[in-house]
Amino acid sequence: MAASLVFRLHDRGPQLVREVLLERGWKEYDKRKREDRDWNLYWRRSEFHSSEYHSLLPWQRLNHHPKTAGITRKDSLVRNLRRMKATFGSALYNFSPTTFILPNEYTSFLAEYNKLLPNRERSVCWICKPVDLSRGRGIFLFRDIKDLVYNCSVVVQRYISNPLLISGYKFDLRIYVCVKSFNPLTVYIHQEALVRFATEKYNLSSLSNVFAHLTNTSINKRGPFYKAQKGQVGSGCKWTMSKFRYFLQNQNINEPFLWQRINNIVTLTLLSITPSVPDCPNCVELFGFDILIDTKFKPWLLEVNHSPSLTLDCQTDLSVKKGLISDLVDLMNYTPIDGLRYKAYQTQRNVQTSFNANISTPVPSLPKLKDSNFQQKNEKSSKHEKTKRHLPPIETLHWILGSYSKTNVVKTGLSSRQMKYAPQVTNRDDAETQDEMENEVSSSVLGTQGKRSTFRPSTDSWRLPDIYRKRQRLHVQEVKPPIGQHVPPIRAGGFIRTFPFNPATLKASRVKLDVPVVLQELQKLTARVASGRLEETTGEGEEEDEDCFDSLLWGPEDPPLLSQWFNTKT
Ligand code: ADP
Repeated sequence: MAASLVFRLHDRGPQLVREVLLERGWKEYDKRKREDRDWNLYWRRSEFHSSEYHSLLPWQRLNHHPKTAGITRKDSLVRNLRRMKATFGSALYNFSPTTFILPNEYTSFLAEYNKLLPNRERSVCWICKPVDLSRGRGIFLFRDIKDLVYNCSVVVQRYISNPLLISGYKFDLRIYVCVKSFNPLTVYIHQEALVRFATEKYNLSSLSNVFAHLTNTSINKRGPFYKAQKGQVGSGCKWTMSKFRYFLQNQNINEPFLWQRINNIVTLTLLSITPSVPDCPNCVELFGFDILIDTKFKPWLLEVNHSPSLTLDCQTDLSVKKGLISDLVDLMNYTPIDGLRYKAYQTQRNVQTSFNANISTPVPSLPKLKDSNFQQKNEKSSKHEKTKRHLPPIETLHWILGSYSKTNVVKTGLSSRQMKYAPQVTNRDDAETQDEMENEVSSSVLGTQGKRSTFRPSTDSWRLPDIYRKRQRLHVQEVKPPIGQHVPPIRAGGFIRTFPFNPATLKASRVKLDVPVVLQELQKLTARVASGRLEETTGEGEEEDEDCFDSLLWGPEDPPLLSQWFNTKT
């Protein structure tokens, strides 16, 4: 089955995605040999154009959800977290350092700066970061406001000056988060991750030393001590999360509580944009969350990356990122139905006689397409719709897809408010190689220009191409299946489902996201993990729904089932 699937990479990368998919028997899209939309997965670092979402076919997936800049751009993240804090209180939304967006909020920053001035200790520092750059570019630290000089939009953030150190070196965690769906919100966090070290010892008396204060790989791999042995850290600047877990075991802390707090940061951050992300069931997103842990083991969110680097710089990268991408493909759950792309595209060019030989699982065979009928439909469609000419009629499509049909979920209302153009800078990945950087710039420029010229408000539905849309509207009913049928898989390889994590959050996210209920459940769960109750549940008296729903506690080496942690229900 896998041999018939086709992936398409924008520009040349990422090479790792190519490698993993080719190893799994996929074929790479070649525009000289295939129709424009003859592919199953389209992967790109920058955002997709809105038209690409509009024209998705049931077997096509994209590696980005639309409109996620609300958390991946530094200033938007600040605004969204602030709004959530104002609405839902700071008990949960207390994981982001105090931040100001300059130049607009200069006066507020000045007030805060002056407030801290009288009793200024050496530890009160600020970090200034351009809002739309990545990889540590343009970042500097300062204590004295006279050193704050900027010529673009920046965020000025309270510097976490008491980071947890290993052998005297600062580090942060790059956590990989997959949002399978924003509606209903379905989140997975990978068990493996990267620990990224600074390569010179932490020292508050020299704020200008980027090799001591910034943990970006792209910076530290150029540092003079990158290859040197650095105490427990060793050579290079990365550890795997597994190695970090081992380190934590000797720290005498409530480790599950630390993981749960990181897990909370991910969920709470995603909640801030969930209601505003247009529904697109054929999309998946891999975010990179950067988390700093301080000496009190409190995790802080530094930023969210839109396209976390997939560069392989060292063995650690290889062991983390290769498994990550492979698990991501598993999480996308490709089934024989995705192979039907081939069947639907009966073009002369892409006929591959090997198709049937490569199918391990049988797929329903396609009835002979009535070419005349098919052509008629195509003639009716607009001349701008050339790319649709090889699609089968809707009857055939439904017949092919049967119960697998994703078309039933493709249609969801997209309000004009959601589709309204909002400027989004796309320079939000943290590519580390020259290739990645070059691609990043070109993609970014193209993406932004494209959006400006063509991203239009629409009152239309999120949909199949026009030729299918009319029929689609008549047939689709937004009937939610019984709860048990809606439970997303508990894990896929190293990806652990972290949301929804219990029947209450499942219910709260199914129809319309009920944020207060979700926050309440998060608080309850966190309090329980903090108290470290480990009794096993008997399972007696549980509701029917709960029988089919459990979650793993993300973080620990062998993640336990939550139901085994708690024996009381509220
Ligand atoms: P970029 O997108 O350029 O990587 P980040 O916000 O991730 O920007 O910051 C780069 C690095 O600077 C982080 O990896 C971290 O080491 C350090 N850093 C950023 N913000 C803070 C902060 N508030 N306190 C301490 N260190 C920080």
